[in-house]
Amino acid sequence: MINDQNQKYCDICGEGFTGVFYGKGSRYKILQCPKCELLWSDPLTTQNFDKAIDSEYWAEDVYLKEESFQKERFRKQLAGILKLIPDIKIKKILDVGSGLGFFLDVCEEFGLQAEGCDINHNAVEYCNKRKIRSRFGALDNFYDQNSFDMIFAFNLIEHLPHPKEFLLECKRILRNEGSLIIETPTQNSLIHKFARLGDKLTGHRLNYYGVNPDGHIHKFSSKTFEILKDLGFEIELNEKINSPIREIIGKTSYLSTFNKYAVRFSIPLLWFLADLFGMQNRVFVVLKLTK
Ligand SMILES: [Zn+2]
Repeated sequence: MINDQNQKYCDICGEGFTGVFYGKGSRYKILQCPKCELLWSDPLTTQNFDKAIDSEYWAEDVYLKEESFQKERFRKQLAGILKLIPDIKIKKILDVGSGLGFFLDVCEEFGLQAEGCDINHNAVEYCNKRKIRSRFGALDNFYDQNSFDMIFAFNLIEHLPHPKEFLLECKRILRNEGSLIIETPTQNSLIHKFARLGDKLTGHRLNYYGVNPDGHIHKFSSKTFEILKDLGFEIELNEKINSPIREIIGKTSYLSTFNKYAVRFSIPLLWFLADLFGMQNRVFVVLKLTK
């Protein structure tokens, strides 16, 4: 991608819905959809996008250390879903952005047939060490229509310049009444409310939304998920969860000294309060597709 990719309207709602100013970073704006509340960075991406993808979550030291902890989370999430959807109906699962393969391992433990895809070379290579099960590539024409019963996208949709394209591809390859399961940061969280307050009080000089070009490009709200009904996706489960503190602290090693200590000091307290008030920073959403 050579040029910055500007985006004036909501990717989900379309051209009639021009973004309203919400905040700004050093070389970008954050806009919000007046209909579905979706936030995005304008521009969406810069010339560094491909490089950002390559390095993004190949933070091997952070993720590999989290293996057993992360798998335990996946086990609980999958068990929760299997209570909603009888596993007899689940023949084929796709994990988009399968990373190091932790979720695929957990599916295997549960006796479920799952494959993955990822656009990070290193991650695919690592994932396929023991057994070939992840494909280098995105969710695209490689997959036949109506060929999956479930699609999982953990911490993926916020990185996509065009989430609607992704949702339509999910719709194409899922069978009727199949499920799309998404985990993503949410605006309906305590940390987002604090960021909003700080941003307003400082006249948009404090931007802690975690939305920026090449990184988390979009940030969803509950309302955005409700709008997906128009595409055929109905909410079956909408659960708030906190990112693991250890993962956030691990990632702070890449921040400037001030931000590093600001985050390390404030996160544990905010997490405790968010748990208490049900305002955690991510959502885990199960969407049922009706074609
Ligand atoms: Zn919208």
